[in-house]
Amino acid sequence: MIVVKVGGGEGIDLDAVCSDAADVLKTGQKLIIVHGGSHETNLLSARLGKPPRFVRSSSGMESRYTDRETLDIFTMVYAGKINKYIVARLQCLGINALGLSGIDGGLFKGPRKPFVKIVEGDKVKVLRDDFTGRVEQVNVGLIRLLIAAGYTLVLTPPALSYEGEAINGDGDRGAAALAASLKAERLVILSNVPGLLKDVHDASTLISHVPRDEIDRYAEYAQGRMKKKLLGAREALGGGVSQVVIADGRTLRPISQALEGKGTVIY
Ligand code: ADP
Repeated sequence: MIVVKVGGGEGIDLDAVCSDAADVLKTGQKLIIVHGGSHETNLLSARLGKPPRFVRSSSGMESRYTDRETLDIFTMVYAGKINKYIVARLQCLGINALGLSGIDGGLFKGPRKPFVKIVEGDKVKVLRDDFTGRVEQVNVGLIRLLIAAGYTLVLTPPALSYEGEAINGDGDRGAAALAASLKAERLVILSNVPGLLKDVHDASTLISHVPRDEIDRYAEYAQGRMKKKLLGAREALGGGVSQVVIADGRTLRPISQALEGKGTVIY
């Protein structure tokens, strides 16, 4: 089993991802797709007159401020537009795809943060109307049932809080939790960069290999959301996944190339 996390950044070619996924699946390889939708969410938010807002936590992590209205837009894009686009593409390519969000059947569950402490300039603020959280539990029973029935799963945030609310749970860490609970062989994280770069503006500075016990050292190069991918990689490896590849989602055969070792291989 391979878990493929498809990023939602600008430049990711979903058609190429789907046709490559179909080719890989036709070799008999089992695969689950988990996808994001950040860029499309930004576009729709702006069109609806509610421009996206990103906040930085005191630990330096950047995340989308997800109030009730943003959560609705987020759900429309992730569980609506993008999830159904991918499912339809795969169906068109002869793959019996089934799309679900983390809410459905409690596929991805975890605690909603009671509040979020953010840093703005030299001020620390507390947000209490933020619907974000962390994926702690994966409904593996439901996933196995659907796989055994012949479906190829296409999964996406939102996740479900323990109180039964939709929450914006990080897709990279959700995919990592899924890969770990399925004891997947590999987790492929496709993004709009070639992998982890020493200099984010220079593709030639790709770091090709990272041993698991050196993730912290290499994490110094990561800024913003790349930090969450490394965190996810560490969690997946800690959960028994043997390899995580962070690779370019903008190429023609992004999954195949990642499986051939193109990108940053964390092992
Ligand atoms: P996705 O939507 O694909 O999950 P994100 O936007 O969440 O992608 O994270 C990928 C982004 O991380 C890249 O677009 C890049 O701007 C940023 N980034 C920060 N530091 C690095 C780094 N050292 N190497 C590569 N990308 C980095």
